[in-house]
Amino acid sequence: MKEIYTNIHIIGGGLIGLATAYCLSKLSYNIVVSDKKSTFADLNNKDDNRTVAISEGTKNFLEELGVWKSLYKNSEQIKEIKVVDRNFTNNLVFENKRSKSNLGYIIKNKTILKKIYLRLKSMKNVTFISNSNVCSIDYKNNYIYSKSNVSLIKSDLIIAADGKNSKVRNIIKTPLYKKNYNQSALVVCFTHKNSHNNTAYEFFYKNGPLAILPMKKESGNFCSSIVWSNDADILNQLMSIDESELINILNEKIHQSVGKVKKIFSKNLFPLTSHLNSKFYDKRLIYVGDSAHSIHPIAGQGWNLGMRDVKKIFEISKKYHELGIDLGGLEFCKKYNDKSYYDAYQLYQITDKLDYIFKLNKPPFLFIRSLGFDILNKNDKIKNLISDFAMGV
Ligand SMILES: Cc1cc2nc3c(=O)[nH]c(=O)nc-3n(C[C@H](O)[C@H](O)[C@H](O)COP(=O)(O)OP(=O)(O)OC[C@H]3O[C@@H](n4cnc5c(N)ncnc54)[C@H](O)[C@@H]3O)c2cc1C
Repeated sequence: MKEIYTNIHIIGGGLIGLATAYCLSKLSYNIVVSDKKSTFADLNNKDDNRTVAISEGTKNFLEELGVWKSLYKNSEQIKEIKVVDRNFTNNLVFENKRSKSNLGYIIKNKTILKKIYLRLKSMKNVTFISNSNVCSIDYKNNYIYSKSNVSLIKSDLIIAADGKNSKVRNIIKTPLYKKNYNQSALVVCFTHKNSHNNTAYEFFYKNGPLAILPMKKESGNFCSSIVWSNDADILNQLMSIDESELINILNEKIHQSVGKVKKIFSKNLFPLTSHLNSKFYDKRLIYVGDSAHSIHPIAGQGWNLGMRDVKKIFEISKKYHELGIDLGGLEFCKKYNDKSYYDAYQLYQITDKLDYIFKLNKPPFLFIRSLGFDILNKNDKIKNLISDFAMGV
């Protein structure tokens, strides 16, 4: 078994783990990234076409890190968001008239992973360990030790970035609040007849929201992705029906907003749960991204929230690095927790309540929502506040 010493051990090399490694490598720390998967950034996986909506706030941070240019080329801009409650008589349109910036950018998860991984691979202070499933964590003489099936790693700090079912969290026994929505999200990537005109749509149906996100053209075809939250049983059935039948159902649901659906090129189902750890730190350990919190995808903000954690780690580490203070000490871990916990708590509550409010189906609630849409349509100030929220600025 390999025994390694490193300053920082990042457990989990997903979107957030790799971004954290990239930031901290710039401060010349020695970093090990371990993952239970056999390959980091699996570029050949044709079935995984998941996308994230990059907010303006995250874009600014990626720009600061010097990776935005290469991501921008592979992303599609969102210039307008149309929100429809039940039917088109009740709708809201968001544009960003105030500045030149867009409302967001849609990019494939695997493109972000690839771009960051390739940069990290060329760095001498970053080591990758694959097929590594962490099984225990111990402490000795101001170091934290993690043992997996392939290695024993001694470090000053562990950053847990191992996703919403975090094994690190189980080992440390950090309590969490968890919610099961008893629903799933169906993610479908498809080609369609008309241009999306850089518009994202959010249809609020009685069982849950359906979002259409504009993607970059592929082989000359207009492409978009759908994220549809609905009862798990219904979506399970949709996963097994013929493509032509699914296309008919989607055409009915998306109201020709991007013309007819032509071809589906990937579909995936995700159970809808959310959680919030009781704290984002322990001794010589911090949680980041989905290992700390996961939220309802209604506003497409989960990864952006994780990137805000990464930014906070980067800012605090920079200061500690300049002052030569121990990165894994209790003060460091607590500081990160204090800066990130409330942000996550707030977004957790907002997304959870948004889902609840838009599922209310009785006439008084439909009327109140329609009144709210009317007021918002006449009030640019409130609409701007909502666009700022969507943009993460
Ligand atoms: C349907 C859906 C749509 C979404 N849309 C958006 C969106 O539009 N915008 C947005 O901002 N967010 C969105 N999100 C959320 C976003 O996908 C997640 O927040 C983000 O992927 C979390 O990244 P992560 O790196 O923290 O976790 P993950 O991507 O889950 O990565 C965790 C990594 O840890 C590894 N790992 C797991 N267990 C172990 C172990 N025991 N040992 C070692 N390694 C381990 C895994 O292999 C993986 O590589 C969406 C989520 C869903 C479900």
